Amino acid sequence: MKTAVIVLACVASALAACPNIVSRASWGARPPNSITYLSNPVPYVVIHHSESGECSTQSSCSSMVQGFQDYHMDTNGWSDIGYNFLVGGDGNIYEGRGWDKVGAHAPGYNSQSIGICFIGSYISSAPSSTLVDPVQQLIQCGMDDRWIQLAHMTIGHRQAVSTDCPGDALYSLIQSWPDWEPNP
Ligand SMILES: [Zn+2]
Repeated sequence: MKTAVIVLACVASALAACPNIVSRASWGARPPNSITYLSNPVPYVVIHHSESGECSTQSSCSSMVQGFQDYHMDTNGWSDIGYNFLVGGDGNIYEGRGWDKVGAHAPGYNSQSIGICFIGSYISSAPSSTLVDPVQQLIQCGMDDRWIQLAHMTIGHRQAVSTDCPGDALYSLIQSWPDWEPNP
């Protein structure tokens, strides 16, 4: 029994070198008002920025994520925080709706994508590797665990709908990623 557990754990970690993900409970999420499940693996990843200030500690990033959730639920009237995941300047990934639930972040793509938000405003300067590396790890982890299709396409929010998101500098950066799709 003990051996089987250890073997399974090794196989899982060899497949998916997932970044640290701060759970909803850890950042103090409110429960969702309703849940719709994705059909995984999804074909798209959609990149956003929050067009807000940045954060550099788990405590300050958690507060910002709580603020986004409050705004999305109380002002926008959504059932939960819009994004599937967020990344902060502390290098942590924050669990939004997670891998298997439909988000509210990119009209036309919500039911077939994982939406990832970089906390901060990336119009004139791109996020540092402290934020970019965990996101790339997250996408790889999602592919390894079959939440995201191996042949998925990554796009910027502005490719789905008229918006400046994810900011000119971050949009330029994702165009250098091998999975970026110019014609989604
Ligand atoms: Zn966006």
